[in-house]
This record gives sequence, structure tokens and C-alpha cells, in this order.
Amino acid sequence: MFDKFISSFVINFKVEPQTGFLIASGKIPIDPIEPDTSFVKARTTYSDYPLPYIPGSSFKGPIRAFTESLLRSKNQNAACDLGEGNCMKNYNNKKDSGIERYKHACLACRMFGSTKMASKLRFDDLLPYKSIDEIEGVLNRVREKSTIRNGIKIDRAKGTAAGGALFFYESITIPFYGSITAKNPEKWQLGLIFQIFDHINSGYIKFGHSKSRGMGRLKIEVESIDIAYTGEKLTFWDLNGENKGLNIEINGSGDFVKTVRLEKDDMLKFIDAIKDESKEELERAVNTKRE
Ligand SMILES: [Zn+2]
Repeated sequence: MFDKFISSFVINFKVEPQTGFLIASGKIPIDPIEPDTSFVKARTTYSDYPLPYIPGSSFKGPIRAFTESLLRSKNQNAACDLGEGNCMKNYNNKKDSGIERYKHACLACRMFGSTKMASKLRFDDLLPYKSIDEIEGVLNRVREKSTIRNGIKIDRAKGTAAGGALFFYESITIPFYGSITAKNPEKWQLGLIFQIFDHINSGYIKFGHSKSRGMGRLKIEVESIDIAYTGEKLTFWDLNGENKGLNIEINGSGDFVKTVRLEKDDMLKFIDAIKDESKEELERAVNTKRE
């Protein structure tokens, strides 16, 4: 993004449902013994049966919404509302370069993208296995950890129970594995992602169906971070071109592009450093008046 490759980060993580958990498929079941709402599933090249997964967009949605409210609590103008890209509604200079558009966008659109701007972050689908050789065990896990729950249908217009109608929904509480890729992020953006992970673990951000009834709480755990960068030392893309690094050493290897995978203690040190060292920048970004 924006001409030059500075650095990229792939955050690989695991989520484990702590409560009932349903990412609804939105399909009406044909089979009468199926629940009314089932978990979204897809057949893969590697399995004969459909497996549950979390679409990247279903994971991104609640994270974006929470980030927007967090940014707005610091400065009302830091994140636009009424849908993504609202901050750019009066902006029609199509000839402008990406960076000019970026300067106009609110902080949420800068991170998550909008109809008028590419996203710095990519959310991949979360799958119920880490590598394809684990796929055989997944079906057993799904059988063990899926339950059918029932609720009462609510009449949306009246806000009351609709004729006492019960509906049945599926809950699957197995671990899922996913990754978020940040290409040329600003330092505060990467720091904010890890802050948001803490909020997920505190239960402030929930995912999927029936969140108000206590479902959708996840535990998130970063397992590794793959870093790639050009230049002698790791630096971050910066709107003002200052491209600063971190106060801890990252030792990538390679000539043209340096790469390194961080795990365990090195990874935790990196996460602490980025959270700590990006605070000031986040404050500045939140309080800078946009053009
Ligand atoms: Zn915006």
C-alpha cells in the first residue's frame, strides 16, 4: 500500500469459544431434523463433509464496530459513523493518489478500509484446524462440542414473544485458527490490534448470534507473528514519512526482504513493546485534525 513496501505482519491466532457460539449460516434448513439456524459450514477440497468455519468478515465486523466506538470515545471525529466511508462522502477527487485519500479518511477507515479506500488489514477465514493433516480429527471434535439450543422467537415489531414459538439453533464450541495480515501498518494500528485482542479476552467484544443472551464470548491467543521488512532494521510505515522502529531488536534474515517468525517469549516481548511504544502515536493520530 502506497508505493513502497516497508513492513508487513501476519498475526496467527487461535480463538476458543467460552460460551455458546454460533455464526449463523443464514440458510433455511430443508431437513426437518436440522436446527432452524445452523453454524456456517463449507466443504473443503480435503474433506467429504462440510466443516464449520468463521468467515473473516464475521470476525472483522464486531472488531471494527468496537474500534470505532473506542476511537470515538477519545475524539468524536476520529471514526466516522453511518457506515464505512462516510468520512469521504464529500470527497470526489478521483485523481488523488492513495495517500491523499488516506489523509482524508477517518482512523477506522484507514485501518479497515472503505468503499473508497483499500484496507491495511486483511482478515482471513478462521478454520477449525491449523493444518490439513488435522482435518480428520475435526469431525469428532465437532460431534463432541456441538449442541442444539432453543430460544423463543421474538416478534420484532411488538418486541414480545411471537406466539410462544420456539426455535432451535446450533452452537459449536471448538477452537478456530485464523490470521490477520497488516501490510505497511502505522505503529499505532498494530498496537491497537493487540489492545483489541485484550478487549476480546475481557469479554467486551463478542461474536456471532445471541450476543445479548451471553453467547459469543471468545478467548483469543496469538500463536506466532510473521514479520517481513525491507531495510536494515524493522520500521513502520508512517503518514509523515518518519518510519520509526521499535526499541527492541528484531533479527530478520534475508537479503532483499528480511523475514522472521516470532513465537513464545520473543513474541510476547514484541507485543508488549508495540502496545507500549504506540500509545503516544495513537493519541496523536486520534487528536490530529484531518484535511
Ligand atoms: Zn471513515
